[in-house]
Amino acid sequence: MLLNTLDRDASITILGSTGSIGESTLAVARHIENLSIFALTAKSNVTTLLSQCLEFTPRYAVLVDSQSANTLAEALRSAGCETKVLVGREALEEVASDSQVDMVMAAIVGAAGLAPTLAAAKSGKRLLLANKEALVMTGDILMDAARQNGSTLLPIDSEHNAIFQCLPTVAEGIGASQVKFVDKIVLTASGGPFLDTPLDQFAVITPAQACAHPVWSMGSKISVDSATMMNKGLEFIEACFLFGLSADQVEVIIHPQSIIHSMVHYSDGSVLAQMASPDMRVPIAHCIAWPQRITTEAPRLNLAAAKTLEFREPDLVRFRCLSLGMEAARVRGTAPALLNAANEESVSAFLAGRLSFNRIAEINADVMAQIPCEPAVSLAIIIEADSRARSLANSLINNG
Ligand code: NAD
Ligand code: MG
Repeated sequence: MLLNTLDRDASITILGSTGSIGESTLAVARHIENLSIFALTAKSNVTTLLSQCLEFTPRYAVLVDSQSANTLAEALRSAGCETKVLVGREALEEVASDSQVDMVMAAIVGAAGLAPTLAAAKSGKRLLLANKEALVMTGDILMDAARQNGSTLLPIDSEHNAIFQCLPTVAEGIGASQVKFVDKIVLTASGGPFLDTPLDQFAVITPAQACAHPVWSMGSKISVDSATMMNKGLEFIEACFLFGLSADQVEVIIHPQSIIHSMVHYSDGSVLAQMASPDMRVPIAHCIAWPQRITTEAPRLNLAAAKTLEFREPDLVRFRCLSLGMEAARVRGTAPALLNAANEESVSAFLAGRLSFNRIAEINADVMAQIPCEPAVSLAIIIEADSRARSLANSLINNG
C-alpha cells in the first residue's frame, strides 16, 4: 500500500468527516503513516461515522444530534472501540481547539461550520479551509484571527488552492508579500450542468438534475451552488479575503473541463496556472503536507486524452448568483454574510421541493436589496445580519 511520511508527526481533527471533503480527507490520511486522527465529526450520520471510527480509531467522535450520539456510543461499545463520543456544537469547538491537535480540516457545510473553524484559527492550528461559507461570512475577522494567533490558513477549495500554488511560497502560508507583482487572478468555473440549458427551462429543473454535476462529485448544497454558479460567486468573495485582493483584481472564466483550476497573472505578463485531474485529494494532500509534497492516488492528468481545453466568458444574466457574489465582494461589510445566509435558505428550500430553481437567484437578490449593508466590524453584527437575512429569505420563500 502507498504510504507517505510527513516531515513531522501530526494529528488532525476532521470537521464534517462524513461528507464529500471529509471522506476525501480520510482517503488521503489513510496513506500517511504519521498522521493520527484526533477527532471525526458529523451532524447525524451514524452509519458512516461508525465505520470511520472503526477504521481510524480517533480519540473522539462528535455528533451534533444527541440521539445519533447515543446510537454511535452504543455501537462503538459493542464493537470494543475506545473512541469517546461527544455531543453538541460546543464539542465541535473543543475538538477543533484541543492542545493536542496540529491541524483542522474545516469541512462542515455552511454557517454551521463557522464557530469551530474560528475556534481552530484562534487556537493557532493549521487550518485547512474547505468551509468557504465561514470565510465569506466573516472575511477579515477570520483572516485576522488566524494571523494574530499563528494559525496557518491553507485553502482547500480547488481554485484557491491552485492560486496559492501559483504564488511564491512564504513561511506564514498566505501572506501579503505573495501578491506583490500580481495584476489579477482568474478563477476557472466548470459552468455546472446548465451551461447551455435554455433559460425557459430553469423553472422546472429538479434537485436531482441540479445535483448531477458534470465533473465533480460533491455534497448537495455545493452541487446546487455550482448549478446556479453561486459557488463561483462565493469563491469570488473567498478569493478577495484570502489573498487580500480587491474585486477588480479577480475575474471568472468558464472552463468546462475543469483541468486548469485557476490562474495568476503577473505584472511582467507571465500567467501561471495549476492543472490536475478534478479530484479533491490533490488540494487536500497539498495542504496537509505543505510545504512538503506527498503522493496521492488521484488519476494522472493526460492532456493528449483531454485533447481540448475550452474557455468562455460567464453569462451574468443566466448566472445572476455569480454577479450577486461579485457585487457583494465590491460592497463588503455585511453584504457577503447577507448573500450567504439568503442562499443557504433558498438552496435548502429548493432541495426540499419548496422553491423552484430559478427563484434561488431572485430570493438572494431580494434579500440583498432589502436589507441595508453595514460595516462588518464585529462577529455580533455579522451573526445579526445572517439571522435577518434568513428570516427575510424564508418569508419571501413562504409567500411565494
Ligand atoms: P457534504 O454535505 O458532503 O458534507 C457536509 C459535512 O458537514 C457532513 O459531514 C455533515 O455531517 C456535516 N454537517 C452538516 N451540517 C452540519 C451541522 N449543522 N453541524 C455540524 N456538522 C454538519 O458537503 P461537502 O461537499 O463535503 O462540502 C463541505 C464544505 O466544503 C462546503 O463548505 C463546501 O462548499 C466546501 N467544498 C466542497 C468541495 C467538494 O468537492 N465537495 C469542494 C470545495 C469546497
Ligand atoms: Mg471550488
